[in-house]
Amino acid sequence: MFLVFTDTIYVMKKLIIGAVLLTVTAVGVYFFLNFPLSIEGDDVNDTGSTEESADTNPYEVIGTSVEGRKIRAFRFGGGEKTLVYVGAIHGGYEWNTALLSYELIDYLTNNGNVVPADIEVIVIPVTNPDGLYKVVGTSDKFAAEEAPQFDFASEVSIDDTVVSGRFNSRGVDLNRNFDCKWQKDALWRNYTVSAGSEPFSEPEAKALRDFLIAESPEAVVFFHSASNGIYTSICEGDVLPETKSLQTAYSEASGYPRPDSFTYYEVTGDAADWLSTIGIPAITVELSQHDVIEWEKNRAGIEAMFHLYSALD
Ligand SMILES: [Zn+2]
Repeated sequence: MFLVFTDTIYVMKKLIIGAVLLTVTAVGVYFFLNFPLSIEGDDVNDTGSTEESADTNPYEVIGTSVEGRKIRAFRFGGGEKTLVYVGAIHGGYEWNTALLSYELIDYLTNNGNVVPADIEVIVIPVTNPDGLYKVVGTSDKFAAEEAPQFDFASEVSIDDTVVSGRFNSRGVDLNRNFDCKWQKDALWRNYTVSAGSEPFSEPEAKALRDFLIAESPEAVVFFHSASNGIYTSICEGDVLPETKSLQTAYSEASGYPRPDSFTYYEVTGDAADWLSTIGIPAITVELSQHDVIEWEKNRAGIEAMFHLYSALD
């Protein structure tokens, strides 16, 4: 009787342990299937203090936005001549310039031999992460279908979220916050927009300024949309001859037109124009629409730059 009782307890114990193990396994499988490890697009990922990212590429954090999001730089090649590509200084409806930059990062990651040995490429995909986050819910890579479509043919309201994402979270137009012909009240189309309290009052502009001064690149390209053209940069005096060569090379390879100047409205505090004051050639690439990245055109323009600056081919 005693022995039978002990045996029963023994068997029951085994059954209970078995049931517990089965439950733990089932719960584990359930969570594994329902909650993938990646938290891509999650704001936690965007603002967290760790270096984890939806992107597998290593990157440097060159600064943080007003809301604490990282401004990241991705580096390729080890040459002495540095070329920098800057996306989404206007977030909002210019989200395609972030996607073009992320496409460039993927391309250079998968095609290691594209960058000549004497060239280094740095891509800063999102300079205004708060403005981009406001519109697409992340400053990491996202699918174009997830982003709002915006038709500039219709009437524009500056209060529209997609439009207000152009500015940083303090409502400052970062591409009016640089030290070239800076004015407190600047223009975007027929609107008066804030250029900040003084040049480089905004952390995003300050981060880009400090990084570019430290890197002292051969040339810088800013991606914008959607005026369809390659524009030179100038603050006072004449356009740098190197900037003209750069404009010609990018324009001829990509097929974008190269207007003499941007004449739609007066631009003050522009980042590319500021670079000319410290002798660094810079161009602005204006994509033709707000919802396309025109990858093949831009790949051709970017590779033409590699040939222009490399002494090796
Ligand atoms: Zn822009």
